[in-house]
Amino acid sequence: MHEYVGALHIHSNYSDGLRPIPEIAEIASQSGIDFLLFADHMTLEPLKMGMERWFGPVLSIIGYEINDADNHNHYLAFGLDEILSPQLNAHEYVEGVKKKGGTGFIAHPDEKRTAFKEHPPYPWTEWDVSGYNGIEIWNHASEWLEKLTHTNKYLRVLHPLKYLNGPEPETLKRWDMLNKESVMPGIGGLDAHAYPYRIGPITIYIFRYKVLFRGIRTHVLLEQEISENITDAKESILDALRRARCFITNYRWGDARGFSFTAGEGKNIYHMGDTIKGNSAEFNVMLPQPGHIFLLRDGCVITKVYNDKLTFKATEPGAYRVEVKKKSRPWIYSNHIRLRGNN
Ligand SMILES: [Zn+2]
Ligand SMILES: [Zn+2]
Repeated sequence: MHEYVGALHIHSNYSDGLRPIPEIAEIASQSGIDFLLFADHMTLEPLKMGMERWFGPVLSIIGYEINDADNHNHYLAFGLDEILSPQLNAHEYVEGVKKKGGTGFIAHPDEKRTAFKEHPPYPWTEWDVSGYNGIEIWNHASEWLEKLTHTNKYLRVLHPLKYLNGPEPETLKRWDMLNKESVMPGIGGLDAHAYPYRIGPITIYIFRYKVLFRGIRTHVLLEQEISENITDAKESILDALRRARCFITNYRWGDARGFSFTAGEGKNIYHMGDTIKGNSAEFNVMLPQPGHIFLLRDGCVITKVYNDKLTFKATEPGAYRVEVKKKSRPWIYSNHIRLRGNN
């Protein structure tokens, strides 16, 4: 497997982000990022301007972020040539993206924040929709703003990556439930804007791209080396995301390149996103450096160890995934491998 590291859900100055795409790509390149998924609000202008391309070693993929009339139900859409009508409701745009052969992810689904009136939450409310390809289970801006209070704001501004405690428990619960039924990929997003933020007389930029690129990353695993051809390269990345052949990390606690979560052995190796027929399987976890490894089945921890590897013989069907912590801070979230019984 070939591993590529992405920073997903980036806003540029085509909407409310601070910097132009070529500059962001340059910062990404210096940060060791392999690909970027841009999602400016309600516009595919950067696509028309030729911004979907390689910038040196960094692949820039252009999608956009859709919202409804109440500015709720944010949806990250990729692989479209032009935007859908801006007047649609969530059901219509989820279906619209699918119909046009695009790929869509529900963004920051359980966002709730109350401390600052100027930063209201934008949750997903339309859970009876179907046809989306995955869920952004971890969103930097959401989590950071949600836990922001008037007393901790200075510390949080100084250390934007240190206080990330992981995805919303509600989101994880829903994600695990959905995976009991069928594969539902989870991705991690930055929601990077580089907002100007005033503290007294000083304006500082929180969520600077350079800082965020050292935070939440989504690693994809491809069967072949990525193509130089932009269309093929883009399709292989989106395909890995749609198949849940990916995992999410907070780079702040270490570079997770080399992490693997597989089942089976020899010729019959299963990867994240795969479904295994049967009631038993041997799961294997490998880490590039030791951490607290938790193996979960349907959202419940079934075994844990502090090590750089774990082997576990499972004898019950369910959706299995891995979480790894570094000194109690969340470091890695795998996607699921499903053991579905004999039916
Ligand atoms: Zn959003
Ligand atoms: Zn956004």
